[in-house]
Formats: sequence, C-alpha cells, structure tokens
Amino acid sequence: MENYSREMEGKRAHDPLFNIELKKMNKSSQRCVCVPGPVIVGAGPSGLAAAACLKERGVPSIILERSNCIASLWQLKTYDRLRLHLPKQFCELPLMPFPSSFPTYPSKQEFIGYLEDYAKKFDLMPTFSQTVSHAAYDETIGLWRVRSVGLKEETTEYVCRWLIVATGENAEAVLPEIEGMKEFEIGGMIKHTSSYKSGDEFAGKRVLVVGCGNSGMEVCLDLCNFNARPSVVVRDTVHVLPREMLGRSTFGLSMWLLKWLPMRLVDRLLLLMSRLMLGDTARLGLDRPKLGPLELKNLSGKTPVLDVGTLAKIKSGDIKICPSIRRLKRHTVEFVDGRMENFDAIILATGYKSNVPSWLKEREMFSEKDGLPRRPFPNGWKGESGLYAVGFTKRGLLGASMDAKRIAEDIERCWKADAKHLTAFPRSLLPQS
Ligand SMILES: Cc1cc2nc3c(=O)[nH]c(=O)nc-3n(C[C@H](O)[C@H](O)[C@H](O)COP(=O)(O)OP(=O)(O)OC[C@H]3O[C@@H](n4cnc5c(N)ncnc54)[C@H](O)[C@@H]3O)c2cc1C
Repeated sequence: MENYSREMEGKRAHDPLFNIELKKMNKSSQRCVCVPGPVIVGAGPSGLAAAACLKERGVPSIILERSNCIASLWQLKTYDRLRLHLPKQFCELPLMPFPSSFPTYPSKQEFIGYLEDYAKKFDLMPTFSQTVSHAAYDETIGLWRVRSVGLKEETTEYVCRWLIVATGENAEAVLPEIEGMKEFEIGGMIKHTSSYKSGDEFAGKRVLVVGCGNSGMEVCLDLCNFNARPSVVVRDTVHVLPREMLGRSTFGLSMWLLKWLPMRLVDRLLLLMSRLMLGDTARLGLDRPKLGPLELKNLSGKTPVLDVGTLAKIKSGDIKICPSIRRLKRHTVEFVDGRMENFDAIILATGYKSNVPSWLKEREMFSEKDGLPRRPFPNGWKGESGLYAVGFTKRGLLGASMDAKRIAEDIERCWKADAKHLTAFPRSLLPQS
C-alpha cells in the first residue's frame, strides 16, 4: 500500500497527463446536496422575503447567492445618493416594517441596514459566492437539479422539490453597442450606472448620460451637484411626474385614487397636476408618451420618472438634452441630427435585464426573450413542478412582497399535506414497485 502511494505520488509529480486526468476528475466530481425544502436563487430583497415567509410557516429553505453579500444590487451596484424612489410603506418586506425613525424615503444605507436586520431577525444565512449556472427539472425523479459554481470553479448540485427564482429583473446591466465605442475610450471613459458611485470624479468634466429613466435623471442631478457639466440623451418619450403632489407621494396618491376612479381618469389628474407643477415638459425636449403614466406602466412596465430636482436643472440649462447618438469618435459624440460635441465621459443609464434564460432550462414559465414570467401580473409567480418566481412583477418591492407571501403559502400547503415530507425525498429516489 505504501509502495502504491509512493508510486502514485511519483506519477503525479512527473506525468503531466496524470495531472490533467486528475484535474478533469476533480472538475467532474461535484458535490451533491439533497435539500428537503425549497432552493432559492438570489439573496436580494425578493429571495430574503421568500425565505422569511417560508420560515414563518415552518418551511426551511436554502438561498444561493452569486456575490458575497445580501442585496448585492443595492450594496455593490448603486450610486451613493440613492434613496428609495417610493415612500417606505410601499417598500417594506413582509413581517417586518421599517423602523419609525426612518425618513419617508430611506437612503440606500438605511435600506441595506434594514435588509441586514431582516436577515438577522429570520436567521437567514445565504450560501454566498455560488453562481447558479444550470437548473432543470428531472422528470425521472420528479425533482429539480440546481447546479452552482463556486469561487474555485467547484460545482455543487442541489436536488430539491421546489425551486424559487429570485435573481431579479436587474441581474445584468444592459450595455448598448454604439459605433465607435473603442475609439471614444482611447481618450474618455464609458461606464454603466451600475459602476457609477458619485459625480466626485467628474468635477469640471463634460459628461453625456445615455438614458432618461429614474437612474439617468438622478445621475445628471448628482453630476450637477459635483460641478460636472452633464447632458442627457433622450431617445424616447418619457413621463416626468413630481415625486409629491398635494402633500402626498405621487405613488401613494395614485394608489388611493385608483380605489375609486378608473385608471385613465387618474392618469388625467396626474398629468394635470404635473402640468401645473412642472410646466410643459415637451418644451424642454421631454415629450410625453400617448398613454398616461399608470396605463403605460401597467401595459409595458415602463416606470415614470419621479422628479427629485433634475427638471429644475434642465430648465436652468445646467443639464442639456441631446438626441440619439449616431456614432462616437475620439473625445467626440456625433448625434443623429448631425451635431458633434466633445465629451470626457459617457454614462450608460441603459438599465438592466433578467438573466434567467442563461441558467434555467425551462420554457413554459419564463420567456426566453426577456427572462420574465410569461403570465402577466398577478399570475406570474407560479409555474409547473414546484417552480416559483419572486420579484418579477415590474412592481418593485411591493410586488416582490406579494409574491413571497403567495409562494410561502403555496409551498406550506404541500409541505404540510405531505406529512411524511422528510421521507419524501429518499422515497422518490427508490425504484417504484
Ligand atoms: C437604482 C435602483 C433603484 C430602485 N429603487 C427602488 C425603490 O425605491 N422601490 C422599489 O420598490 N424598487 C426599487 N428598485 C427596483 C429593485 O429592483 C428592487 O428594489 C429590488 O432590488 C429587487 O429585488 P430582487 O431581490 O428581486 O432583485 P435583486 O436586488 O437584483 O437581487 C437579486 C440577487 O440575485 C443574485 N443573482 C443573480 N443571478 C444569480 C445566479 N445565477 N446565481 C446566484 N445568484 C444570482 C444577484 O447577485 C442579487 O443579489 C430599484 C432598482 C434600482 C436599480
């Protein structure tokens, strides 16, 4: 035996092919973990909410998270001045309200603190640095096989009866292809808002922000506050609404009015108030869509911009509006109207997309086109064979909380119905008589 070990050691040291084989073996030999409860993919607010609701009902779960912290979107990919866009009562997760000491619009740090307390309260301990690369339903055993890859490329397979997708609508940055990007980058910088922290590094610089959603508009304001010179590319129509109307949040007021009035009428009222408070935005180069803000949100998911001061800077000329980009050159941007202007940096506020189609091998529940559930709200949370989605409603944290509660209720029913759930897993692996 000792001789054999020594022989193997010698072989290992001298035989390159042996080493390759060993590496291959190590790579293919993956750990397998059988999970009695659900596997949740993603430790953002949605994944945490689902795990907490399950725990409350006595159903244990595990959470797999690709990054090294909870709420990685908020902790790692958002700018410093960010606050919740909506008042706190519309953003709290189930079973734990925000502290009353929090302001109406909590800061990013306050929100992250709240999520950390949330995880602590429900004793949620996600498995970090585990990127789910493949998940498929195995018909033969009637269970999901979920494969994750760790930091050292080691793979683990989790086998479970319920799979909860909580990877978010904002999993990957959308980076548009613009002709001449490489040329521009020789002398200037191009970055996505996911890596923008503050206007500090842009003081005195000419910055072009591409995209006029909530992030693009707020980044422009931030750049102004740091004495940069921002311009914003507006390619599409956009609804800009004041964040507050008649002493209430515009969002809260809309929800309240919708209880009594049809959506179109509420839209008219919102637009009338906006006109009185903000003036005619079209005169500033911000044309409004034909559909009203709520109807548009409902049909396409496109969120209106809630103004936090950017419009005043556009009016004063501190922020310039530009048309679409035709192409980029070194230091220069050529717009579709033929105008050329020099810029030091470009910030892409071009949004995010879901990454579900890249890892979930399933075609019924999620659309391959946009990685979102095919069934419209409020029916997109449940698929077949124990598959669930939380946080894909285009209704922010409020939508995620609704999903989380429904999912926990549904899984608890099966969990309890199967009184022998603990033996269900091995039983399904036994040959059927
Ligand atoms: C700038 C900004 C401001 C916002 N403000 C608000 C607001 O005020 N109110 C509101 O309601 N909503 C707001 N939102 C919407 C926001 O998406 C939600 O608030 C919330 O973050 C959604 O939570 P989530 O858990 O669904 O997704 P995420 O927060 O994106 O979390 C998903 C998690 O899944 C992980 N993940 C992704 N893929 C994998 C994989 N393959 N394997 C393992 N883990 C994976 C990610 O790392 C991430 O941690 C804002 C969004 C942005 C970008």
